[in-house]
Amino acid sequence: MKTGEFPGNSNTVSSTLPSGLWCLLEPKSTETHVKGSAVLSKKGLLDVVASEVIVCTKCPLWKSRLNAVPGVGNPETRIMFIGEAPGMSEDAKGEPFVGTAGKLLDVLLSQVGLSREQVFITNVVKCRPPRNRQPKPLEIETCTPYLDRQILVIKPELIVALGSHSTSYIFSKAALPFDSITQTHGKPQKANVLDLALTIFPMYHPASALYTPEHKKVLEHDFQSLKTKLQNIRQNPP
Ligand code: URA
Ligand code: SF4
Repeated sequence: MKTGEFPGNSNTVSSTLPSGLWCLLEPKSTETHVKGSAVLSKKGLLDVVASEVIVCTKCPLWKSRLNAVPGVGNPETRIMFIGEAPGMSEDAKGEPFVGTAGKLLDVLLSQVGLSREQVFITNVVKCRPPRNRQPKPLEIETCTPYLDRQILVIKPELIVALGSHSTSYIFSKAALPFDSITQTHGKPQKANVLDLALTIFPMYHPASALYTPEHKKVLEHDFQSLKTKLQNIRQNPP
């Protein structure tokens, strides 16, 4: 199978828990997938993506990276947080959001009763752009098949898009027009992404909150709206 391709529903086996056992942040299924002749769990499939990412040389960003950053978290979660690209700390550690923006993200998560272990955190682009410049369109286009595969494995009900690059990419997958993060942040959008019915929740990027105090207030406010949204999802499971 070419990188970027993903085994479709035809070779997917799933057995879902009864809806009474539904819980937002605990395993929702004993889902397994067939890849080649092996039967893989969601964790197994995410590990396959990660193993490809860490040796990837498909775009020039591999040349300056210390470590590629595939993503971390709970493969059985219903919530994905998607940032832009790794920075210096992430490049050094191979984990997303472990620098100053990550510290703020941890605080925001804890304020709404979430921990890193309960969600999945990743980025649009998996290697650090030099001097933290914005990822180029071709880098995004080359790298996002990995993100798409992660989304298809996890099948999240909620995608929290952090910042304009992330929101713009996820909106494009949903065929939604993207104006600006200033216009869209804090407004959950029901959408169809990669044939999955889910909600996109755009937010300012935590890094922008570090430089703009007003953005930090907005981000805290939007995380409180996210908390309400999570409670609604818990009360009205699909
Ligand atoms: N900013 C991002 O967008 N992602 C990270 O992982 C760290 C900082
Ligand atoms: Fe590969 Fe993505 Fe890294 Fe480019 S940014 S080298 S496409 S993993």
